[in-house]
Amino acid sequence: MSECIFCKIARKEIPAKIVYEDEEVIAFDDIRPQAPVHTLIIPKEHIPTLKETTDEQTGLLGRILVKAKTIAALKGIDQSGFRIVLNTGPDSGQEVFHIHFHLLGGRRLGWPPG
Ligand code: 5GP
Ligand code: ZN
Repeated sequence: MSECIFCKIARKEIPAKIVYEDEEVIAFDDIRPQAPVHTLIIPKEHIPTLKETTDEQTGLLGRILVKAKTIAALKGIDQSGFRIVLNTGPDSGQEVFHIHFHLLGGRRLGWPPG
C-alpha cells in the first residue's frame, strides 16, 4: 500500500473535507488554504509529478481540467473567477509528490505569483 498522503486521502484513510469525487478523481480542501477557496484536485491514480505523465494519461489530465470548472461551481467561484496551479519540481515549491491541481479563488489573486 502506498505511503503517499494523497493516496491515503483518496482511500479515506486520512480525513479530508471532500468536495467532489468520482471513479478517477477526488477533490478536497487544502489543509493550509492560501485563499478563501483552496481545493486540491487529484487523480486517484498515483502519479508523482507532471514530469512522470505519459501520453496514455492525456485524457485523464484533460478530464481533470474540465471537471475543475464543475468543482469551481460547487465552491461558488465559477462566476468570480479562479486559478488552477500545478506545481512541478523544486523551483515551484512542490511539497507533495502526488500530482495535484490547486483550485484557488474567492479573492482577487495577484499576478505574477510570488
Ligand atoms: P504543493 O506545494 O505540493 O503544490 O502543494 C501541496 C499542498 O498540499 C499544500 O498546499 C498543502 O497545504 C497541502 N497538504 C499537505 N498535506 C495535506 C493534508 O494532509 N491534507 C490536506 N487537505 N492538504 C494537505
Ligand atoms: Zn499518491
